[in-house]
Amino acid sequence: MRRLISLAVVFLVVTVLLAVPSAVPPAQTQEQMIAITNGRVFDATGASLIDDGVVVIEGTHIVAVGPAGEVAIPAGALTINARGGLIMPGVIDNHVHVTESLITGDVLTAWLRAGVTTLVDTGTVRDGAIVGDVVIVDGIEVLRNFARGVTERPPRLLVAGPILTAPGGYPATRPEPNSQLAAQPVTGPEDARRIVAGLAGRADIIKVAIEAGFDLDYEDAGWPVLDPETLAAIADAAREAGLLSRAHVTQEGELAAALDAGFDVAAHTPIDPLSDEILQRAADAGMIFTSTANIWGGIGDAVPGNLVRYLELGGRFALGTDFPFQVGSQMPVAEMQLLVGGGLTPEQVLVAATRDSAAAVGREHDLGTLEPGKLADVIVVDGDPLSNVADMANVTLVVLEGEIFPQPSALVPVGDANCDFAVSSIDAALILQHGVGLLPDLACVEQADVDASGEVDAVDAALVLQFVAGRLEEL
Ligand SMILES: [Zn+2]
Repeated sequence: MRRLISLAVVFLVVTVLLAVPSAVPPAQTQEQMIAITNGRVFDATGASLIDDGVVVIEGTHIVAVGPAGEVAIPAGALTINARGGLIMPGVIDNHVHVTESLITGDVLTAWLRAGVTTLVDTGTVRDGAIVGDVVIVDGIEVLRNFARGVTERPPRLLVAGPILTAPGGYPATRPEPNSQLAAQPVTGPEDARRIVAGLAGRADIIKVAIEAGFDLDYEDAGWPVLDPETLAAIADAAREAGLLSRAHVTQEGELAAALDAGFDVAAHTPIDPLSDEILQRAADAGMIFTSTANIWGGIGDAVPGNLVRYLELGGRFALGTDFPFQVGSQMPVAEMQLLVGGGLTPEQVLVAATRDSAAAVGREHDLGTLEPGKLADVIVVDGDPLSNVADMANVTLVVLEGEIFPQPSALVPVGDANCDFAVSSIDAALILQHGVGLLPDLACVEQADVDASGEVDAVDAALVLQFVAGRLEEL
């Protein structure tokens, strides 16, 4: 009791010395202002890196991005010190399938904590599927309900719904139960328009499968595929509904069929070395490829090279992993490393994972870059991922639409064995959001050099004071 009182006195003194009359951040009822400072800003627009940059957030949106000294930090803003890390847009994994995993547990929370702020689910249970003795009336709603049921806020989830395909075609040809349940047979152009109309207003994108299967010589295995008229009807109906359409393709011939029909996105990058002609045709059509390089094992070696040439010809690609087929719910570092190892630059890969992944779901107006007016999906990464993309594993802070989520590992070094730490602004933000559990060990707080280090600012002191006062009341 006595020690806690003395702590309260210490921090009261600090607050008074710093002479900030109201250092407590604004209440949640106002639009919270956040300023992320002291980091290098990679905005993913194509503009050059800002060495010492600031990102200002008001409520759910970004309101300013620029060099320190040129961007005003609003009074009352919660200041988060990025400690020299890279401040960049949240990552969008453009190709996952989460339904089956969600049935058995929460796979979403870990993704957000790792810095993946948006997931694009590209195939869930079709309407009318029978699971056990239950008829699925609305497969998209089933998925969204699973996502609502997780204990912490999940990443933003954008959903394709089922995979439209020829009766008996891929993915019904796959052995996995969820593949069977996701395959939505389409019998012709009229059926296509009816099905897409039924998905409009519920789905975020429309997905079709164009795969005849292949053996190791890339010869078609003879699986049924939709005819050109039906494929075109799907792409047209999606466009009329205001939705982007994407086609699962694995080889050049299937890519050509997708371009003929007018699809916007290729859900995979084909695994055969693509001709310049088809790459130029896709680039001219504005088609966005999805990387999914890491799922193919020994037969996908051509994927990074196809993407290198696609970018040279003016094409764009989004980053996708095809979870759960290859990687867990984490930052897709393995996918990024494979692409960099195959000749892409880290900057190209990070633009794919942010700006162009947003474009692939028709969300470039509000997601994917750090620009005023965009939703505040921001991450801070320790290290230098633009030189070493593996550093993307080291996300220390995640902001989703203005809400702060710390990476648990970033919370550990609040006081080493010698109590050698500083209570910085980032800790203050974490304390504000998450309270008691994040406060450094009180014994260390007592020993901290609060008046001379310059690291303990007024906000920190006020928050810690508030915390200590709360503890005093409890006792
Ligand atoms: Zn997939």
